[in-house]
Amino acid sequence: MADNDIQQTAEQIAERFSDHADVSVDDVKERLENLVNEYKVPMEEARRSVTSHFAKETGVSRDQLGSGGSEKASVGEIDKPEEWMTLEVKVVELWEPSSDSIAQTGLVGDETGTVKFTSWAKSDVPTLEEDATYRLENVVTDEFQGRMSIKLNSSTDVEEIDADIEVGDQETEVEGALVAVQSGSGLIKRCPKEDCTRVLQNGRCSEHGEVEGEFDMRIKGVLDDGNETYDVLLDREATERVTGIEMEEAKQEAMDALDTSVVTDRIKSLLVGRYFRVEGPQIGRYVLADEVEEVDETPDADALLMKARSVA
Ligand SMILES: [Zn+2]
Repeated sequence: MADNDIQQTAEQIAERFSDHADVSVDDVKERLENLVNEYKVPMEEARRSVTSHFAKETGVSRDQLGSGGSEKASVGEIDKPEEWMTLEVKVVELWEPSSDSIAQTGLVGDETGTVKFTSWAKSDVPTLEEDATYRLENVVTDEFQGRMSIKLNSSTDVEEIDADIEVGDQETEVEGALVAVQSGSGLIKRCPKEDCTRVLQNGRCSEHGEVEGEFDMRIKGVLDDGNETYDVLLDREATERVTGIEMEEAKQEAMDALDTSVVTDRIKSLLVGRYFRVEGPQIGRYVLADEVEEVDETPDADALLMKARSVA
């Protein structure tokens, strides 16, 4: 480890204490040198160790120390690449890295939403555990195809914290023509067992076998905005509102026909081809519709121009 790296790190550590306590660069440097040169501790680990040593010795708390340069932020505030920040997050999911250069990747989140994270193998970042909460000092934001992510790197401090973080849903809004109403839409029956609510197939729950189901209504639909398609899920309330069909009426129809598919067919003929804007949390591939409203067709300006040219 080059001596000027130790000098620089010592200056950075002393600087963090400068507003709160008298910590000299030389004292910091001596401890760093000992750890790095004598005990071959990696620089970033030495930085953490020395920082917490002086924090203990001076009684300066981590909050007083601040984040060592990067601003404390929330996930919802991430809106541009190349920003350095400090986040307190919970690990929502870990994914299989797509290449050997990635040590770890997955999803972390706080109350304001979730964001993808990546740790590079060469950066030697501590491993994150699923469901644990961490303070991540000095992460850098990145952007790929319009989606924000964060990178953990060799200057990132990872500290497990004891915090109760309720990870917020990522709200999205999609708009387009309803091009399909998928099977499993309309009048359905759910398992009545506590905390189950699975949708019954031919009167059977995959977990509890044959049960007396409880009626529910929903729509699994596909919106198409001309470029992309989106899976949307409407619960009973949204389904009743958007179709104007009350569940009691749907049950009566199904009973008269001895078949629930009459309800699904009616929903299809009512809705397919109309334009909707759907707002709500994205869970897996579905946008759960908290709000649905019918919108006027908003024709793509470029497409219109092309049409105009082709008939000219
Ligand atoms: Zn069940």
